[in-house]
Amino acid sequence: MQKATDRKRGMLRLVKSSNPDSERKPMTDSEKYYKQVEQYAEQIRSTKNADEIIKILDVVLSETRGIKFSDEAFAAQEQVKRAEQKIESLKNEIEQLRSLVQTDQMTGAFNRRGLDDIFRREAARADRNAQSLGVVMVDLDDFKKINDCLGHPCGDNVLINLVAVAKETLRPTDVVVRFGGEEFVILLPDVEMDEALTIVQRIQNNLAKSTALSLEDQLMPITFSAGIALRSFGENQHSVISRADKALYQAKRMGKNRAIPSMAS
Ligand code: GH3
Ligand code: MG
Ligand code: MG
Repeated sequence: MQKATDRKRGMLRLVKSSNPDSERKPMTDSEKYYKQVEQYAEQIRSTKNADEIIKILDVVLSETRGIKFSDEAFAAQEQVKRAEQKIESLKNEIEQLRSLVQTDQMTGAFNRRGLDDIFRREAARADRNAQSLGVVMVDLDDFKKINDCLGHPCGDNVLINLVAVAKETLRPTDVVVRFGGEEFVILLPDVEMDEALTIVQRIQNNLAKSTALSLEDQLMPITFSAGIALRSFGENQHSVISRADKALYQAKRMGKNRAIPSMAS
């Protein structure tokens, strides 16, 4: 049997409550609202970007909140409230999923997928504000030896500790990414090269202070090498990372445990 509220739905008038003018003359009716939501749903179906989906849900949410049924029918108000709750919980779920797929579970750093999203965001911000973006490529020194002598689980702990030390040392706006294996990328928004060098050296010092491995009765400090590139206006992720990687290669060739700036851009 069709419910009374369902029968009434086609007749319900919707008005935006945020604008006092529109309170007087209804801006839209329920049919229009449902059509609009269907359009948003279509947009959501055709995007693969979680940020985009969340943005669309925010719009739907604010429009749903802005709607007031002009006949004040209680059931209709309840429906709007339920729609709000569903949209909110959907948003939370997507946010949780996004953070799960963008995070390296072992270290808690972002993974490559996270880097793609964050780099896009940070590059756009840097261009918009005419700021630099420091990109640091980090590779642990002699990591194979650590694994071979102390075992893989101990190697894992070294990776976990490096991320913890880096996060403690960096500003909240800086980003640590596990690029793969024992390689990491650090994004430093709005830095000059001398500042970037100082920051990387600070992480190196803090890492050396935090742990040392006891190998063959000798204490072996854990070190890493780094290459630093400053992104130039409009430069893409691949280009700036490859410059940082070349500088890292130089750091390795020069004897490891150092940070080398990339000069060319
Ligand atoms: P270099 O100083 O030249 O960087 O030497 P390296 O020994 O660090 O050389 P390389 O980069 O070739 O070795 C990386 C090693 O990291 C090899 C691989 O087994 C190890 N590795 C990669 N991912 C993990 C991981 O998740 N856990 C552990 N324990 N080891 C890993
Ligand atoms: Mg490596
Ligand atoms: Mg290495």
